[in-house]
Amino acid sequence: MSDTPLGIAITIPFGFGAKALEVFEPTPEVFTYSKMKGSGESVYSLTVFCPKCSDTHEYNNRAHEWRPKWLIEERDYSFQVVYSVDSEGITFAQCSKCEFDLRDEYIYGSIDDEITSKNENIHQVSITGVYYGEGCFVMPLESFKKAIREGFKRKATLYATIGLMSYKIAWEVYSQPDNIISKDGCVFLRKNLWKQA
Ligand SMILES: [Zn+2]
Repeated sequence: MSDTPLGIAITIPFGFGAKALEVFEPTPEVFTYSKMKGSGESVYSLTVFCPKCSDTHEYNNRAHEWRPKWLIEERDYSFQVVYSVDSEGITFAQCSKCEFDLRDEYIYGSIDDEITSKNENIHQVSITGVYYGEGCFVMPLESFKKAIREGFKRKATLYATIGLMSYKIAWEVYSQPDNIISKDGCVFLRKNLWKQA
C-alpha cells in the first residue's frame, strides 16, 4: 500500500468506504454464519438480536416447553437493535421493532403462551358490559356483535361475568335467532338460557 499523497481530495459516494484513495463498496454487514447440524444447516447469530421478534424457538408439544429450533434460518432472526436511553440516562440496546429491552431476559413463549392459552380457550369468548335486567342478561349490541364475530365460526361458548358470577351460553343457544331479543341498542338473552360457568 502506498502512502496517501497529501492534498488530494477524493469523493466518497454515500454508502461507500475508502481506504487511502481507494473507494470501495463495503461488504454488507454479516450478522450470521451457518453450520451443518445433522442433515441440515443451521444459522447462528454473530451479534445481538431481538429474542422477542426472532423466531428461534418452538413449542415442544411433548415436553410442553419452548426449545430452540433444531435448524434456525437467517430470516428467523430480527437484528433491528438500536441504542436507547432509559429514564435513568443509561444507554441500552433495544429492539426498534417491539421495543424489547435487551438487558431483560426474554422468556420464550411468554407471548405465545398467551396465544396457546387463547387457543385452548378457542371455544370461549367473553362478552363485556353485561348486566342483569328484565329477567335477561343485557349487553350492548356492539359487545354482542363483537363476541358473535369471534365466536360464531368456531361455535364458541360465550362467557359473561355479572358481579362475581360467571355465566356461559352455548353456541347452540345463542345462534338461535329466537333467543335473541334486540332493543334500544342492547341485546337481551333470557337468564335461563345461561349456565353458571
Ligand atoms: Zn423485537
